[in-house]
Amino acid sequence: MPLTFSSTIPTDPRGKAFPILRTPARGKMTAAITSDDLIGTDTHFFKGHTVPCTRPDCEAHDEGIPFRWHGYIAALNKQDRLHFIFEFTAQAADSLDQYRLAHGTLRGCEFNAIRLHGRFNGRVILTCHPLDQQKVNLPRAPDVAACMAIIWGIPAGQIETNRKVNGRPAMTNTEQPLDLFPRPQPQPIKTTS
Ligand SMILES: [Zn+2]
Repeated sequence: MPLTFSSTIPTDPRGKAFPILRTPARGKMTAAITSDDLIGTDTHFFKGHTVPCTRPDCEAHDEGIPFRWHGYIAALNKQDRLHFIFEFTAQAADSLDQYRLAHGTLRGCEFNAIRLHGRFNGRVILTCHPLDQQKVNLPRAPDVAACMAIIWGIPAGQIETNRKVNGRPAMTNTEQPLDLFPRPQPQPIKTTS
């Protein structure tokens, strides 16, 4: 059989895969947000990965693994044009909330993210300012909830976003509705300040 080459790259039917990046322990991350708003949900660090909490039916909960809220947003590194999903903590989300309140959208917000004390679990400090959009061409933002569904192996039709969990936008697995009242155990992970 002759080997056939094609110049077309096969496309993933689920859409483009976006890498997830977090604030580095050392140094500064600078990126421009392409999403209009942030989304987030309670997550566990379970079996070596960050996974969504699916309580009341949640394997990680049953094993007593602590949970914490994580937010997700699409952002662009202006230098190398890498378009990625930025994962952040509730603490860091406050700066984004304030920016959105002031500007009506997060799209076009440039942020600098650093960690205090240079530790991988150090508190994240996020500072925001408007990007000069005359100079930087921002790509269209992906559907971040759909990207997370791919990463977490949840059928896309089972994820919806709303703004009702603890006043924050949340992803909800419609097949397993989230119990909005946290259980007394386990406790959220304490963040260092
Ligand atoms: Zn859980």
